[in-house]
Amino acid sequence: MKTEYISMTEENIDRQGIERAGEILRAGGLVAFPTETVYGLGGDALNPESSKKIYAAKGRPSDNPLIVHICRLEDTEAIAEKIPETYYRLAKAFWPGPLTIILNKSSRVPVETTGGLGTVAIRFPSNRIAHALIEAEGGFIAAPSANRSGRPSPTLAKYCREDLDGRVEMIIDGGQVGIGVESTIVDLTEGRPVILRPGRITKEMLDAELGSVDVDRTILSADSGIRPKAPGMKYRHYAPKGDLKIVCGSRDNVVAYINEAAAAAHAAGGKTGVIAAEDTCAMYRADSVKCAGSRQDEETVARELFRILREFDDENCTVMFSEAFDDSGIGMAVMNRLTKAAGHQIVDADAYRQKENGGVGV
Ligand code: AMP
Ligand code: MG
Repeated sequence: MKTEYISMTEENIDRQGIERAGEILRAGGLVAFPTETVYGLGGDALNPESSKKIYAAKGRPSDNPLIVHICRLEDTEAIAEKIPETYYRLAKAFWPGPLTIILNKSSRVPVETTGGLGTVAIRFPSNRIAHALIEAEGGFIAAPSANRSGRPSPTLAKYCREDLDGRVEMIIDGGQVGIGVESTIVDLTEGRPVILRPGRITKEMLDAELGSVDVDRTILSADSGIRPKAPGMKYRHYAPKGDLKIVCGSRDNVVAYINEAAAAAHAAGGKTGVIAAEDTCAMYRADSVKCAGSRQDEETVARELFRILREFDDENCTVMFSEAFDDSGIGMAVMNRLTKAAGHQIVDADAYRQKENGGVGV
């Protein structure tokens, strides 16, 4: 299939292009499009054949459900049942925006879209291109992230092209996305609300709205045999092709550990990469040092993370290290994606230094 490319901005929407994209979706085809979080790979959420095509285009396991994107709150009633009052409270506070809410599904939503589950994930995005497209489609677009399964989610249209060229009817380029990590997912189907995936809408923000929300235990812990409630979270995700480790500890010990380990890997013939915050970037020696943004403003780190992981692949890096980031606020989303990318390999540079010094400590 030949993929058609069009581009536009939120301020200057190409109405004819959006109409064509809407027609493609209504006819059962696929369109990749920008949202405020990452690019989505859209199909008609109410057409089981479209959902099957999404799984095929991504190479995604079919038990991993898709998120249904809407553009009118009242459309919820067509796709969900037993809607709790908390749903409307969250919608009022955070929609349109980067929050996905799980409800019980209605019979109109095919199980092909929900990965066989009796629940449905719903999101009302704020990106105006996404909004126009959902309207043009008729109201219900199923869209996971627009990457091949296992690769980092695309934050730029060129990464959609890399992963999906020839596999989808159209890719809409809307520039770099603003947030850079996927939406927060909160489950409202079982008594207390539970965060299944952290994102830009933080636990603190949800707590302020709902009292107190739980966090699924698998979000930051190593794979421990507990089954994550968002099926997608169990798969190896975001992983760069080489070996990535996260290094935590005091600043000086982290810098010393990474520089030593990178020098050893380089000497052994590896190509090395480092992810660091702005203030420490200049302290590293490696083949590729990436500045991820500011520790004072972890939103900048969220925005750059997936791009950096893809660039390491483009540069054929084989051994990579990342500084750890604070895991409160949006940092929980950053550390969740980073620990998955690292396959949960975390090194404690302080403990390492202590051992090196014969257990005396420094
Ligand atoms: P993606 O948009 O590519 O990040 O994938 C959608 C994410 O939403 C995956 O992690 C899914 O497991 C999760 N998800 C979608 N529907 C549900 C649902 N009904 N229950 C729990 N998680 C869901
Ligand atoms: Mg994804």
